[in-house]
Amino acid sequence: MLIPALIHRKRQGEPLRPDEWRALIAEFVAGRVPDYQMSALLMAVVFQGMAADELDALTDAMLASGATLTFGPDVPPRVDKHSTGGVGDKVSLVLAPLVACCDLAVPMIAGRGLGHTGGTLDKLESIPGFETALSREDAERQVARIGCVVMGQTPDIAPADRRLYALRDATATVACLPLIAASIMSKKLAEDLQGLVLDIKVGSGAFLPERDDAAALATTMIGLGAARGCPTRALLTAMDRPLGHACGNALEAEEAILALRGEGPRELREITLALGVEMLLAGGRERERSAARARLETALDSGKAAERFGAMVEAQGGNPAVIDDPAVLPQAPMQRVWTAPASGFVQRVDPRPIGMAIVEMGGGRRTMEDDVDPAVGFIVTAKPGDRVERGEPLATVFGRDDEGLALGARALSGAIAIGPETAEATPLVIEVDAQSVRLA
Ligand code: URA
Repeated sequence: MLIPALIHRKRQGEPLRPDEWRALIAEFVAGRVPDYQMSALLMAVVFQGMAADELDALTDAMLASGATLTFGPDVPPRVDKHSTGGVGDKVSLVLAPLVACCDLAVPMIAGRGLGHTGGTLDKLESIPGFETALSREDAERQVARIGCVVMGQTPDIAPADRRLYALRDATATVACLPLIAASIMSKKLAEDLQGLVLDIKVGSGAFLPERDDAAALATTMIGLGAARGCPTRALLTAMDRPLGHACGNALEAEEAILALRGEGPRELREITLALGVEMLLAGGRERERSAARARLETALDSGKAAERFGAMVEAQGGNPAVIDDPAVLPQAPMQRVWTAPASGFVQRVDPRPIGMAIVEMGGGRRTMEDDVDPAVGFIVTAKPGDRVERGEPLATVFGRDDEGLALGARALSGAIAIGPETAEATPLVIEVDAQSVRLA
């Protein structure tokens, strides 16, 4: 196979054949296609898109690049949730143990930070000792024992996505509908699921900010799942502001723990419950949304979900003391409070510059080889629509040094706008549809 010829054809807008995609992914995973050629091809896809049969072939080839988790008859039905990526989105940390308390199993293969968005694995790895590189057997055993696991792609499970994901992060080839769809679905289809719930982000902090693009992504992934025996449903949710208050790995882990203890921000609880409801319906544990919500609230408010999170942390080598004492998480050495420059109403809190600043402060990756600094980030309490007074604290920057604090403060000045007119926040859950998202 002559890779430059494939890149050339794709660049010119000619679809590649399904057998070409299959061979390409197999060769790439075998180490016979260098990253620079794959990067060029990915960029061609960003510009040219993919035909439906190309996307089918890419998804199947990525899935076939590795093994699939399998579970015995004693394991409850498996369900999972995956977000298309946002800033401050720590929902998975709360949701996996919460749903595992409702007689369902959650074998979650998650991702790392991507572009300006944070990653579940990086957040969990901020807990001292927490291991996300699990073998297939260990993951299966853990799910059978405690009902949930959150792990990364491995050389054995979803290896094609493991490599492509890291490559896309470093080459600005993330924001592309078919690449996102294949990435997410190839991981999720390896989990032996009975149901999948997608959290499709809409707004400036999403990879596809426009509602219609987000809806098209939802429809595409619902179709990929349905055609492969994995009933998939989607919610469109707001990413025109950070989710909750904390943005940055350890800060988000702490906020997720607060939510598990019933002390987190309202938005985080609401979106967790909304997604959890769909998971309980998808897994056949409830028929009515009201009953599903009540069951989830009981698991959360009784402390059972927090306990299950502790069991998961312990099973994956982390320090379970983090639940009672989040101070065991890495702490940034320096903080700076950011105050309202004027009185008025918060017009917007743009998540994208906040996410970009975290990457620049060391909390994300500039290259594939970078380590992340778990401690840096922001607590942003301002929300669109809030009435604020000049000088009122609206956010705190957590940094390594003066340069990081200055960078963070500049990002907040660009992200947060205050004006004299009242403003309204977009609803958190923009659209719920159990089976499909309407495009109209
Ligand atoms: N989440 C993924 O797993 N992949 C993407 O491409 C985007 C979000």
